[in-house]
Amino acid sequence: MRGNFRWLALLLILCSVVLGADPSAMDKGRVHALKVTVLSTMLADGDELGEWGFSALVEADGHRILFDTGGHSDVVLKNCGTLKIDLTTVPEVVLSHWHPDHVGGFITLRDSVLATTPTALARTHVGEGIFLPRTGSADGVQINPMLSIKPTYEKSGGEFVVHDKPVQLYPGVWLTGPVPRKYPERNWSKGVQVKAPTGVKEDNLPEDTALIFDTDKGLVVLTGCGHAGVVNIADFARATVRPSRIYALIGGLHLFEASEKTLVWTAEKLNSFGVDNLLGAHCTGVETVYRFRHDLGLDRSHAVVGAVGATFELGHGIDPRQIAK
Ligand SMILES: [Zn+2]
Ligand SMILES: [Zn+2]
Repeated sequence: MRGNFRWLALLLILCSVVLGADPSAMDKGRVHALKVTVLSTMLADGDELGEWGFSALVEADGHRILFDTGGHSDVVLKNCGTLKIDLTTVPEVVLSHWHPDHVGGFITLRDSVLATTPTALARTHVGEGIFLPRTGSADGVQINPMLSIKPTYEKSGGEFVVHDKPVQLYPGVWLTGPVPRKYPERNWSKGVQVKAPTGVKEDNLPEDTALIFDTDKGLVVLTGCGHAGVVNIADFARATVRPSRIYALIGGLHLFEASEKTLVWTAEKLNSFGVDNLLGAHCTGVETVYRFRHDLGLDRSHAVVGAVGATFELGHGIDPRQIAK
């Protein structure tokens, strides 16, 4: 009996050590080398092509991930050629949400590597809900291209990994999965319905997924359209990974048509987190980038309109290329 008590005491001590440990002190891993290169957005210079869409190449401690694939079937492929980016060395893809301006180049890019390197672009991470049918008008015609992309991609040997919660893909590299809508942001265009398991309703892009990188300088957030709301995404990243400053915010924030009130509220919230760099591309809106430059207390080298070929790199900051300098 006495021996049993001794074991119980030992178990209690172990439990208290585990429960008492500060989770933020636990080493979840950090990213030490990070470069994000914009491959698709509206603004372009040099020989690159601009389009309404988004795509970026992520290089994080040697892991290469393609984040979104642009709108036209061939624009990202052409821009990769111009920028001398070899996609056969990129095994993984993240598709942030179903919108055609983010998945339009996906099958073309997969086809471009298939003959020589079938392991390239072969594993694609998505958020739960990306394959739900969508309708855009009264005629009820289904418009989500992911429904036809899925069998085509899988036939080529590609694999979709569907996430319903945050996941750490590599040390310090996090995928949010679907983001809880804590704040009432409505950063999406109206008029599309989603056929969810609970019934047909307005499509608020439940799958909208972002990449988060935990660096010694703070969190780096990469969004496609940011339909979950940039504040919801940053808030969720801080709750999931660690409550640090946002060292960089990169990608589309879908604020181009936002009201004055929304822009003021969003900037206030972002200020409460602290934002050090903004590479506002795609649907962020040009005016929004300049507003945030002012409201977040940034300067022209730390708040930049994203152009094709622009980069953000740890240790170097933002390289805007030519037109957005
Ligand atoms: Zn978009
Ligand atoms: Zn979108």
